[in-house]
Amino acid sequence: MEFVILDLEWNGAYSRRLKGFMNEIIECGAVKVDEQFHVLDTFEMLICPQVGKKISGKIRELTSITNADLADEPRFLQVVSRFRRWAGNGVVMTWGTSDILTLIENYRYFCGNRRIPFLKCYVNLQAYCERCLSYDRTKQMGLSTAAQLLNIDETSFDHHRALGDSMLSLSCLKKLYDPEKMKQFYQDADNEEFYNRMEFRTVAVCNLNHPQIKPSDLAFCCDQCGRRARRVGKWQLHNKSFRAPFTCRHCGHQFFARVQFKLKYEGMVVKKTILPFQEKQEEVEKTQTAEEKKES
Ligand SMILES: [Zn+2]
Repeated sequence: MEFVILDLEWNGAYSRRLKGFMNEIIECGAVKVDEQFHVLDTFEMLICPQVGKKISGKIRELTSITNADLADEPRFLQVVSRFRRWAGNGVVMTWGTSDILTLIENYRYFCGNRRIPFLKCYVNLQAYCERCLSYDRTKQMGLSTAAQLLNIDETSFDHHRALGDSMLSLSCLKKLYDPEKMKQFYQDADNEEFYNRMEFRTVAVCNLNHPQIKPSDLAFCCDQCGRRARRVGKWQLHNKSFRAPFTCRHCGHQFFARVQFKLKYEGMVVKKTILPFQEKQEEVEKTQTAEEKKES
């Protein structure tokens, strides 16, 4: 088995055809290793953009890639067809899914088809490393953060360049690789379902009448005595979550309940929290003062 760790650089480009912005890939870099992490080969190519003729200042600053650098380079389809031959049947790995989403976007734009021909098996290295490092699941761990946590000296890598970042991702993986742990991170990418899942956007549900919300999602037990509490006020939407006051009939405890609904590809995810009555009151007062200030 071979691993192909891929990284891309892209530029925000306005497309007249799409009547909107897209991320146009301008560099493709990768490193190919065997299971013992011997480097077998590297890949590094710049791509001459066809949509956005100018590299934005931000991207130029970050990558140091200039318009002149790209002028005589091959175009997207030439580069990816060369990459496809180079990558062979290796397991493709990227840090986070944004590189895959950008590839999908570019394939769709230039070929009219979202399929990535060289993607048969895929691993999201960010998700794998987050699991290994027990990183907070609600946050996303950047590559620099991972490198720091693993005591990897970032300055010895060409950071924010495609090949440099793929090498840095490889260093992180090397430190955390465990074939058993990795098993559940292999994704079969050779099917439509993979693309549907990749392109699915999680949304917060702000309507309590949503068919996937169950009455039990809105029921709360007392955090003091554990018995069923009773809601004593209306559900109110605040920062994409719902809050309501509850009272326990058994022990008299009062609290605020907060519930958040997120519709993910896998279905509805419900997050329930209990806020102390006191804190919630203070919070309400704080927002009130903020709103009063805004009004004045
Ligand atoms: Zn109680």
